[in-house]
Amino acid sequence: SATNWPSIISELAELEIITDAVQLSKLSLDYYHFSPILSKKLNNKRANLVVRPVNEVEVLKIAQTCVKYQVPLTVRGAGTGNYGQCIPLEGGVVLDTTKMNQIRSLEPGLACVEAGVKMAAFDKKAREIGWELRMAPSTYRTATIGGFIGGGSAGMGSITYGQLRDRGNLQAVRVVTLEDEPRILELRGDDVQKVNHAYGTNGIITELEIPLAPAYPWVELIVIFDQFMRAARFGQALGDSDGIVKKLITIQAWPIPSYLTALEDYLPQGKHAALLMISQYDLEPFQNLVKEYGGEITYQKTATEATKGSSLLEFTWNHTTLHARSIDPNLTYLQTFYFTLERVEQMYDYFGEEAMIHLEFLRVGGKAIPAGLQLIRFTTEERLNEIIRYHEEQGAGIANPHTYILEDGGRKVIDPEQLAFKEKVDPYGLMNPGKMRAWLERAVSV
Ligand code: FAD
Repeated sequence: SATNWPSIISELAELEIITDAVQLSKLSLDYYHFSPILSKKLNNKRANLVVRPVNEVEVLKIAQTCVKYQVPLTVRGAGTGNYGQCIPLEGGVVLDTTKMNQIRSLEPGLACVEAGVKMAAFDKKAREIGWELRMAPSTYRTATIGGFIGGGSAGMGSITYGQLRDRGNLQAVRVVTLEDEPRILELRGDDVQKVNHAYGTNGIITELEIPLAPAYPWVELIVIFDQFMRAARFGQALGDSDGIVKKLITIQAWPIPSYLTALEDYLPQGKHAALLMISQYDLEPFQNLVKEYGGEITYQKTATEATKGSSLLEFTWNHTTLHARSIDPNLTYLQTFYFTLERVEQMYDYFGEEAMIHLEFLRVGGKAIPAGLQLIRFTTEERLNEIIRYHEEQGAGIANPHTYILEDGGRKVIDPEQLAFKEKVDPYGLMNPGKMRAWLERAVSV
């Protein structure tokens, strides 16, 4: 039966509602277009209505209304995800969290924030008391903390603190359910994994308790190398240097640096580059390490200078892909756990410029490992899948960015805990429908 949108709109009349077609399409999409596969599948998906609650009471009202009229509800933070995570596949209501942007508490080591708080804005406040976020994506200036938990994975800081899913990196959340009588639940400790990186398929996160890191004055540097594997080995050695405090270790094989035109003065033709954030107090030992590996420092900004201009962060992680695609739209990317430098070297030799290697070092299980956001010269979907298969056959782990299905993009296995939680809090399957494979398969078998 047809949905009675006029009634829904009148029930939500006290809230900020968006129905303008141009705004609806803007607020229905994210950065799915980095993938030529997702581009085709998602470009025409639209919400019927966007609602911007300002607090949890309004979120409850939206949840009640969606249950009453049995319409899909998809949560959206800043909409910077890369896999169509917040794109409403079946239309319905998009709940935009960006007006829920209050910092509830901020103390040394710990903060409690509303889901729509923007990461860079939060850090600015936290640094006033000497602390900062443990990790953040390169979309840090616009992304929301709730959206990072809902759809992100790692970023600057991950070389020290690991990934979002690591125990301790999220301490508690408040979640609004889509039951017949929507409720507010508080999840603490290991229970947060029920909703951590679940694409908003099993509850609306309204508040988060997050641990903080001590804020160092981060110096931003570029170091260049003649040989790619020299640069990669330097990255590993820096990751393993327990006495040097760092926040970012990005390694880019030539010709990737050629796409970063704003930095061209520091990235000479044919050289491989390391983009780094290092504690100002550790510069001397850092320089010794650069010397040991035969690198040359071409760029160095103090912490104070770095906070004024644009940060090197915005040339790393998936911003590398963004810049490269602005020059060559046929480029796309993969997300890879190489685990070892031997495998990095093997892929470098095997694929050449078809898969240009971009490494981000991060800590996994206590060890610094090379992960990849390699740039792929896209030809066909078949070839892309062949490249993925080859990596997997050689023992690399691919987190496929060319699917909007939660499990297929991540660890490829169904998470029984997240499914069980969805069965409880979203019995009608209204939340971000079409994204959780476990739910879709269960629906078929029921
Ligand atoms: P959105 O895209 O709005 O949402 C992401 C997912 O979370 C959606 O499924 C949404 O439904 C869900 N969600 C949002 N809010 C809530 C909530 N309150 N409750 C429940 N579910 C919710 N990601 C990284 O991890 N690391 C990177 O370094 C990185 N770099 C990027 C660079 C570029 C150029 C781009 C375009 C993307 C990058 N990303 C990266 C992906 C993305 O920017 C981040 O993961 C970001 O943190 C997402 O935040 P957002 O507010 O935009 O979330």
